[in-house]
Amino acid sequence: MRVDGSLAEGVGSGRGGNGDDGRSNGEVAAAWQRVKRRLRAELGEDVFASWFARLELQEVSGGVARLTVPTRFLKSWIESHYLDRVLATFRSEADGIESLEVGVRGAMAPARPGAAALTKPVPGPRPAASPASPAAELPEPERAARGNAPEGELGGAPLDARLTFESFVVGRSNALAHAAAERVARHDGGPALYNPLYFHAGVGLGKTHLLHGIGHAVKNAGRRVIYLTADRFMYGFVNALKTQSALAFKEKLRAIDVLILDDVQFIQGRSIQAEFGHTLNALIDAGRQVVVAADRPPTELESLDERVRSRLAGGLVVEIGTLDEALRASILQSRLEAVRASHPAFEVGPAVAEYVAKAITANGRDLEGAVNRLLAHATLTGAPVTLDTAETAIRDLVKNREPKRVKIEDIQKLVASRYNVSRSDILSERRTAAVVKPRQIAMYLSKVLTLRSLPEIGRRFGGRDHTTVLHAVRKIEKAIGEDTALCDEVELLKRMLQD
Ligand code: ADP
Ligand code: MG
Repeated sequence: MRVDGSLAEGVGSGRGGNGDDGRSNGEVAAAWQRVKRRLRAELGEDVFASWFARLELQEVSGGVARLTVPTRFLKSWIESHYLDRVLATFRSEADGIESLEVGVRGAMAPARPGAAALTKPVPGPRPAASPASPAAELPEPERAARGNAPEGELGGAPLDARLTFESFVVGRSNALAHAAAERVARHDGGPALYNPLYFHAGVGLGKTHLLHGIGHAVKNAGRRVIYLTADRFMYGFVNALKTQSALAFKEKLRAIDVLILDDVQFIQGRSIQAEFGHTLNALIDAGRQVVVAADRPPTELESLDERVRSRLAGGLVVEIGTLDEALRASILQSRLEAVRASHPAFEVGPAVAEYVAKAITANGRDLEGAVNRLLAHATLTGAPVTLDTAETAIRDLVKNREPKRVKIEDIQKLVASRYNVSRSDILSERRTAAVVKPRQIAMYLSKVLTLRSLPEIGRRFGGRDHTTVLHAVRKIEKAIGEDTALCDEVELLKRMLQD
């Protein structure tokens, strides 16, 4: 794979040079940020977080935009499901893009002791990371995917060297989760403690970080651990079924000490969820530790069957709350220090740090994004980061990620008026197309724009069942993916509700 020819070079030497078509790197990077924002808005937070959060722009040259992701699995998924969409979006944001290529970067390369803070590329605006260690960042495409046993054999993901207990900042909202994670990780001998240990929280609140922390600690203690995301679990199992080695796959899974499963809300499909249930039971019954994370409590995992849900709820369920300002400030400080290890000249004064910690309230991911923006800014301009520049650099993060609290009632009213029906039509039992479509759109928007659970949304829509809501959400999601007019329409409704 080619090391970033235009973007990194220009940025790394602080020149802010031009791409080969006369575009500045800044313009391309900004267009890419808009593409990501649109994908997030159009596909919803869940889909975006699973497939696109780690998609980065490496370079644009000769009309080809080269994108990278950390795993081969993500690459093939994006290629088979979303390539056209990403291309279309990118083309509408930047001129001269003719095609896309997706490569695998080595972000998840095996840890090198002492180099933790340096090995992980700083995600976000592409330029920030590169100068430090292009070699560590862009190794052979194969490297990330190959892995060692047992992860490799089972399709487990390598652990991210940066996500350890040491780098996890403890505060009020995550203290219990952190304590449980440490206990489970350090537990040695005897039956598992809390089984399963189940974390749930919204996006960017540290679930994956804690899970990787457990993974490192267990591994360092010489025990066998495997970290799987839901998509890898499904992929591994489907593959095993294809090659008729499902039994062996299960046996291998059951031979490990700690199974860590991230984002289980994505586990779907009848046979796979049944298999997930069996694996869970077998491991727990054998006294092996299972640790799970999801974006919602076990009771709300609609795609799983009741018995699996109750098994998941049967251990210790811990919610990680939103980050309060003190915690955000500490996380920010620790991120700034980590970045400074590779960019000693990067200075962010206390006033700026305080502003960022106050302004970015949503989650850890955005804090990280903000640090990347500041770094990119400092590297590109060579000027110190002032309050003014910080404000400009993170403006879109602040605006975009702080949507106004939207009320279901307002959604119903707005959607009804857009489609010339009444709000009571939407709440009614009527099933004519003229009412069904706005009703489903309103349900979809309620799911995407509010924190209400599906059963709660069902109640607010004239006492409907949560499966009806789920059906509506899925249907609109799918329709948005296929119909750009609808996609724009829904986007417009979202904006109207959030402004
Ligand atoms: P989730 O899996 O819940 O969506 P992540 O674990 O991916 O969230 O966290 C998002 C980002 O925020 C990561 O860069 C992570 O390191 C950081 N982060 C979140 N919580 C903390 C914390 N308590 N201490 C340090 N970093 C954190
Ligand atoms: Mg996560």
